[in-house]
Amino acid sequence: MKKIAVTGAGGFIGHHLVRALKKRGMWVRGLDIKKPLFSDSEADEFWFVDLRNREVALKIFEDIDEIYALGSDVGGVGHLSRWNYEIIKNNLEIDTNTFQGALKSKGKKILYVSSACVYPLHRQDSDKIQPLKEEEAIPANPEGAYGWEKLISEQMLTHASKDAGCEVRIARFQNIYGPEEIFDGGREKVIGALCRKVAMAELNDEVEIWGDGQQRRSFCYVEDAVEGLIELMNSNYSEPLNLSDDGDISIGEVFNFLNILSGKNLKLKNIPGPTGVKGRQSDNEKRKAILKWAPKTDLKSGLAKTYFWVDATIKSKKYAQK
Ligand code: NAD
Repeated sequence: MKKIAVTGAGGFIGHHLVRALKKRGMWVRGLDIKKPLFSDSEADEFWFVDLRNREVALKIFEDIDEIYALGSDVGGVGHLSRWNYEIIKNNLEIDTNTFQGALKSKGKKILYVSSACVYPLHRQDSDKIQPLKEEEAIPANPEGAYGWEKLISEQMLTHASKDAGCEVRIARFQNIYGPEEIFDGGREKVIGALCRKVAMAELNDEVEIWGDGQQRRSFCYVEDAVEGLIELMNSNYSEPLNLSDDGDISIGEVFNFLNILSGKNLKLKNIPGPTGVKGRQSDNEKRKAILKWAPKTDLKSGLAKTYFWVDATIKSKKYAQK
């Protein structure tokens, strides 16, 4: 049977990806420095490894046919805008070592999860969004150290594919959300943070958000996102590919929807804070043409599932004891 490795298997998307691969009957080795936060991993083996350690990374993929590379020092805009040096250093080490490990692996096949942060900032400075096509990432003007690192690693992997005979897939995600995403502690992203704030608020409270709430984003439900990764891995496409849902929504509109779900009649209070670019969406035409696949979950039902999961988790005994 094919052996699959997932790095970042203790993280939000990696944990869901392991679950999806197991549902398809695959054999999976999960790799991470930590376990998943909210439920047990379904991986056949779960190894605690720090991918910044080169010697370790060169050994852990030897018997592996396919690698999904999701291990990363990552978080929401608060984390990414605060820790630029740590992020570029840690992620260059993780990615360089993972790619070297992939070259020593049995199957020499790797899927790298990149980000919409590779796209030029000057194409995202308006809330009137023009969808970003894959080829627009270069000439480069990416967002922060995180975006630069993802772009450099895409390049490194593309050259590994051309010069060293490695089979490569590169997925560019926008914003992935869903149950079991982190919602506190400093690494949370906008949906997790908003769900927590709304779930913890009392009737008629004010809820603070960074910025004016006008910034627009595109969201993809996590179960769809991991299906997209598997589709891409099984395709023959080796260039970077946008893997996102259609449609976009402002952060203020997300808040309004969560407010209705909660029934708490909350008010929005805009406060200064990092907000990222004004508007971002990817052009998804290549994804449709190449994978002939589309996400299934509409935003409202995905947000409802996520909100009620966050709400129930906060009310649980385990969370209260944290
Ligand atoms: P996450 O933080 O939940 O998962 C990343 C995992 O990598 C964590 O479990 C972390 O412990 C692990 N990791 C960090 N440093 C490590 C190290 N030195 N060695 C081994 N493991 C290490 O993040 P996520 O949201 O699940 O993101 C997964 C991937 O998808 C990342 O590469 C991220 O850049 C990318 N991505 C995510 C989104 C999103 O919206 N969540 C959007 C674009 C791209």
